[in-house]
Amino acid sequence: MKDPQSDMYRKMMEIGGVKGGYHRDQIFAEEKRSDYLWCLHCQRTYRRGEYRDLDGIQMCPYSDCDGNTVMDGFDWEAIRDHHKKYPQVPERGKVYRD
Ligand SMILES: [Zn+2]
Repeated sequence: MKDPQSDMYRKMMEIGGVKGGYHRDQIFAEEKRSDYLWCLHCQRTYRRGEYRDLDGIQMCPYSDCDGNTVMDGFDWEAIRDHHKKYPQVPERGKVYRD
């Protein structure tokens, strides 16, 4: 049984601290629709490219959050597809949940 989550985590560890740049962009070839990401853990948003370095892992920039920017970040526009009332530019520090 192959777990895609752990695969991605391993990949994240491999590039952790080795290369510069935004790990998310090195792991995902995603269509960049928005300059913002939404965090699955704290349900807040931050600018794409922002992170808090924790032993080479690029974490969600909010200091009280244990999410990371690779697996727990979602493109804001993709979130907005399902939440039409959300603004194009999200409010910093605001929790967006239903
Ligand atoms: Zn977070």
